[in-house]
Amino acid sequence: MYMIRSNPHTHTDYVDGKSPARDMIKRALELGFTSLGFSEHAYQPDIEPLYGLTDPNRKRYINEILSLRREYEGRIRIWLGLEIDRMSPESGEGLDYFIGANHYLTSRNGDFAAVDGDADLLEAYVARAFDGSWDRAIERYFKDYADFVEKKPPAIIAHFDLICKSNRKRHWFKEDGALIDCGKEAMRLMIRSCRVLEVNTGGMARSGQPCPYPVQPLLAFWRELGGQVIPSSDCHRAHQLDAFFDIAPEYMRAAGFTECLALGKGDRLFETVSLM
Ligand SMILES: [Zn+2]
Ligand SMILES: [Zn+2]
Repeated sequence: MYMIRSNPHTHTDYVDGKSPARDMIKRALELGFTSLGFSEHAYQPDIEPLYGLTDPNRKRYINEILSLRREYEGRIRIWLGLEIDRMSPESGEGLDYFIGANHYLTSRNGDFAAVDGDADLLEAYVARAFDGSWDRAIERYFKDYADFVEKKPPAIIAHFDLICKSNRKRHWFKEDGALIDCGKEAMRLMIRSCRVLEVNTGGMARSGQPCPYPVQPLLAFWRELGGQVIPSSDCHRAHQLDAFFDIAPEYMRAAGFTECLALGKGDRLFETVSLM
């Protein structure tokens, strides 16, 4: 039975994580990880100018991860990445990889709301910008996401249906209509540019989500399309580095996957591992 011993989606105390990079590595070693990828949030000046890796922190972050990589060489493979939101101008140049994310609903006049932020603000935004239609909001969310992945292909697609985050408490929409239809349409477009989707347990650890992102029907559809998956804990605190990694293999198997990806131990970014 496969035990996950790697994580591609790790934050640090440079932005919104609570643990320094070194503590994440120490925890990874305790857990017997063979590789660990850092993916701190890139800056996004048009949305939240103070959020993400603004200079000079971007440079400090990169230097620290590269220096830790050298220090821990031979014990664990460290990868340098970023989590880049579609609203960020960050190019991803000079990195080993980046995770492409969509955290925002936006409209043409520059108005926006975070889909993983304050639920009242998001609800008010959907009322204002989409006449209260969650179907239209969901359609916009996935269209913008697919567009971004096509224009700036990431190595990994992040928490695909993050728009469900507050819905689990607020019950704004059923998770079997537009979510599935528009999600599938976005997947059809995305897979032309990126074949790797994360199975993200971070929401289970941090906000009590009932399952990883994405929901099972969308994950199964990704497999039908021939896509690949990589489990991630979207970790913000060292002690949660392997949170819900015990259920992730079965979650992927239930969607029909017989193998998944992990960050490599050597030169190759990804290695394939059997889930059977
Ligand atoms: Zn994210
Ligand atoms: Zn993240």
